[in-house]
Amino acid sequence: MLKYLVSLLCFSAAAQAFNVADTSAQARQSFWPNGAKAAVSLSYDDALNSQLDNAVPELAKHGFRATFYLTLSSPAFVKRQAEWQQLAAAGHELGNHTIHHACQTSKPGRDWVAKDKDLEQWPIVKISAEIQAANAQLQQLDGKTLRTFTPPCSETQAKDGDYLPTVAALFTGSKLQGSPVTSLNQLVGNTLPTWFPVAPTLAELITYTEQAAQHGTIASITFHGVGGEHLAVDNTVHQQFLAYLAQNRDKFWVDSYANISQHLQKELLQQRLLSKSSALNPKH
Ligand SMILES: [Zn+2]
Repeated sequence: MLKYLVSLLCFSAAAQAFNVADTSAQARQSFWPNGAKAAVSLSYDDALNSQLDNAVPELAKHGFRATFYLTLSSPAFVKRQAEWQQLAAAGHELGNHTIHHACQTSKPGRDWVAKDKDLEQWPIVKISAEIQAANAQLQQLDGKTLRTFTPPCSETQAKDGDYLPTVAALFTGSKLQGSPVTSLNQLVGNTLPTWFPVAPTLAELITYTEQAAQHGTIASITFHGVGGEHLAVDNTVHQQFLAYLAQNRDKFWVDSYANISQHLQKELLQQRLLSKSSALNPKH
């Protein structure tokens, strides 16, 4: 908990400092690697067959790294573990999406959530232990100690409260469903708002990423099925969108959220140090 509080305080201070520097056009231009206007985090939730079959070859075609938020009890994870492991070797991130994908059952349309996976009946200690166990299992696959997290159903209310503060320090970042990021100052606390597009058009995907470029921020997109399975994006639309990102490499830095979140923390800290330095030496 102490570690979490320290990182939260550091992040808050860094983001506040960035607020000062944010007015500088020069700072905005150099914030992302190679002068990119925005970072793009493509992520794929739930460990689905259609992701391995349809998304992975397209990502490889363009040399893009993405984050796969794996549900470790998913049949496609259990049966095709070696293929997920190969993704890590290829530079993709294996993100944590828990083992059993516990969600709230009281919301409408939640018939698919089994009673023993009702997050509202799970105490924080239970879901936290599962998330730690998932991290250990993922580390066995990829050897990594740093990764990011997306809560199942984007819900963090357990039986006895919000579990995210308890597990946040285990990750370099967490994604929660939310509005587009229009300022880097919104990223206080190390959580990133993400979009869950269901059957999006190519134009909608392009508009979302172009808006991030206009603001100099991050476009985070959370896909599920690709060309099939649940909450799917059309396969052709997904292909065309990746081709669009590839045609605009100078504008978009496409990488895993693990890499983007680490870059973000480093840059925000640097902005804080620069801000401190100019406050101490106002003539320089
Ligand atoms: Zn999920």
